[in-house]
Amino acid sequence: MLLSGDAPLFTLTDAGLYCPAGDFHIDPVRPVPRAVVTHGHSDHARSGHGAVLATPETLAIMAVRYGEGFTGQRQPAALGVRTNIRDVTVTLHPAGHVLGSAQVLVEHRGRRWVVSGDYKRQSDPTAAGFEPVACDVFVTEATFALPVFRHPPAEGEIGKLLDSLRLFPERPHIVGAYALGKAQRLIALIRAAGHDAPILLHGALIRLCDLYGAFGFDLGRLEPVAGRAKKDLAGHIVLCPPSATADRWAQRFPDPVTAFASGWMRVRARARQRGAELPLIVSDHADWDDLCATILETGAEEVWVTHGQEDALCHWCGLAGIRAQPLNLIGYGDEDEADALTPEGAAETAPAATGEAGA
Ligand SMILES: [Zn+2]
Ligand SMILES: [Zn+2]
Repeated sequence: MLLSGDAPLFTLTDAGLYCPAGDFHIDPVRPVPRAVVTHGHSDHARSGHGAVLATPETLAIMAVRYGEGFTGQRQPAALGVRTNIRDVTVTLHPAGHVLGSAQVLVEHRGRRWVVSGDYKRQSDPTAAGFEPVACDVFVTEATFALPVFRHPPAEGEIGKLLDSLRLFPERPHIVGAYALGKAQRLIALIRAAGHDAPILLHGALIRLCDLYGAFGFDLGRLEPVAGRAKKDLAGHIVLCPPSATADRWAQRFPDPVTAFASGWMRVRARARQRGAELPLIVSDHADWDDLCATILETGAEEVWVTHGQEDALCHWCGLAGIRAQPLNLIGYGDEDEADALTPEGAAETAPAATGEAGA
């Protein structure tokens, strides 16, 4: 089934995408001897591999989430540095998704394959910007691969949040956001918009925000929500994982405005189902236009489409004269849900955790 011009450089195993010539998996969903990990989200970066090659940032994120013993061997690879692994050469290139996120370029006998991991093209002050990498075969994500998904500029969405804060200065504004990447990007955007007041954090976000600080990102004054009196919550922006807005944790807030920051907020029914009074369309994934533009920029003659809306993007590729096939990889979550069960979130969100696969 997996045919490309020459013998394919990747095949599928139970654990996911496997490169026989290099004898490693990329983002395996179960423990393997050798893994290359694109970024730290829990559905891509799992513990228990024999060795993990990833950016230093991703390795640090994995250590925060799973403990220092998350792998037998860490193989830090800086962006742009070539690493020979058996018969192939592996180079990581920025994916613009979250801190440390990388696309994986694999070269073998003159053929170039790029596995994108998750990526976005919108600018993000907390992640190195995506670089298109010329290749023969491009393995792309497809989380938002339907024409209905067009993400507005994130700055405008942050403007909505700050407008609401001005309109309801006495109400706490609870913002559900992915613990890794989305939360820190929102904070950076809120700071860039001139809001200097302390931002309050759910316990699940604290260590990752500290890690961004350790990598040199100044997120301004951040304070834990825990231990604050009710009267001291009014008029604050409070960030938490998406699942926390629906559990007991959220009941401490008097008359809150509930917001979610996600590409899914484009879908009204989804926003309603989430109870989002203030849906913010802020995504760390490429939207439809950016997926299509990126495929063209890579110059790939063949595209493999993974987790998300594979069919629409494969159809578009066909119209553009590019061979394409869906991979139907299992085990990857979507943007809203994938962090619900990470260890650092468990303490405060366990009763309402919704699982990794998500809706
Ligand atoms: Zn991700
Ligand atoms: Zn993903």
